[in-house]
Amino acid sequence: MKKHSIADIKVHLVSAPVAGGFADATRKVEMVGYTIVRITTDTGIEGFGVTYHEVGGEATKLMIEKNMAPRLIGRDPFETEEIWQDMFAYLRGVGRKGLMFCALSAVDIALWDLKGKILDLPLYKLFGGAETKIPVYGSGGWTSYTDEQLVQEMKDLVQKDGYRMVKFKVGVDGGNSPMRDLERVRKVREALGPDVGIMLDANNCWDAATGARFANLVKEYDIMFLEEPVLADDIPGLKKFKRSTDMPLATGEQEYTKYGARDLVLNECADIVQLDGTRAGGFTEMLKVAAITQAWNIRFAPHAMENIHIHLISACPNALFLERLKLFEDITGNIYVDAPKPDHGFMTIPDLPGLGLTLNMDFIKEHDERF
Ligand SMILES: [Mg+2]
Repeated sequence: MKKHSIADIKVHLVSAPVAGGFADATRKVEMVGYTIVRITTDTGIEGFGVTYHEVGGEATKLMIEKNMAPRLIGRDPFETEEIWQDMFAYLRGVGRKGLMFCALSAVDIALWDLKGKILDLPLYKLFGGAETKIPVYGSGGWTSYTDEQLVQEMKDLVQKDGYRMVKFKVGVDGGNSPMRDLERVRKVREALGPDVGIMLDANNCWDAATGARFANLVKEYDIMFLEEPVLADDIPGLKKFKRSTDMPLATGEQEYTKYGARDLVLNECADIVQLDGTRAGGFTEMLKVAAITQAWNIRFAPHAMENIHIHLISACPNALFLERLKLFEDITGNIYVDAPKPDHGFMTIPDLPGLGLTLNMDFIKEHDERF
């Protein structure tokens, strides 16, 4: 059997300012960007992976170039478990979460893309999936919007973009006005009618009692789930929230690795687990995260990065759907050539090997940040 070994690794950083900035309940987003890792074998096959940032992309890029790449050259790209464990051990003193894991995730995704390309198989098939048409919801609705802007954006997601499910932010005034949030939810529900799925995201802004009170009040508007009502690190608070309301609780986008997922499920503080494979450890780790959620019979709905997660959703029977962030639409449309787009609330996995995506290298090279 032909052997392949890693011969070259290139990292690109592409960012885009968010005009005016958008705020959720707990922070303002002024910039979004991708770190793109391209790994080429000695046989001339290239795979790529991505992670993303609102801050800190430079550090991720340097971590990959200076610390990870030298340990990857010469290795067999099929050894994703071995490489993951090696990186986890090598970098253990500088990051169990955060930027180090963004770096590891992008590398791991690139290795899986490479495996798919070498084997000429799409990743969802390598993962054991069959379904290629995957549901997706539109995600936006910042707390910095006026009520009118919020309602208009949600209407556009449904009427122009064809989504059947939408998510928007609650926690206006830094989480200090839950009654104003309730009013905004009422306006959106009235504008969308009863048949559109609505999810809400509080981005860590409340304590358990405030979150549960809001959840119980907002239930009359038929909400699919409330996301991060409580500080993500407040595991006892999430548990208390769950005991205080039957509103489904979604959380996990700030968590990393199977250990983070384990703590969420063992503490019974999530109904929907939302780790993000482009930050939480790549496909190698997300397959384990998915298995943990399956064993506890709870749902799996990876955060954002729909073009990457689409393969996982296909292969995980307890996965719900993809999230497509409106915030990332422009830059995602620029870094990929002909990236799949939602059509009537579904995305279709390209019938191509690996991730099934093609980088727009003209755009990436033109905007590559050198520092
Ligand atoms: Mg969120």
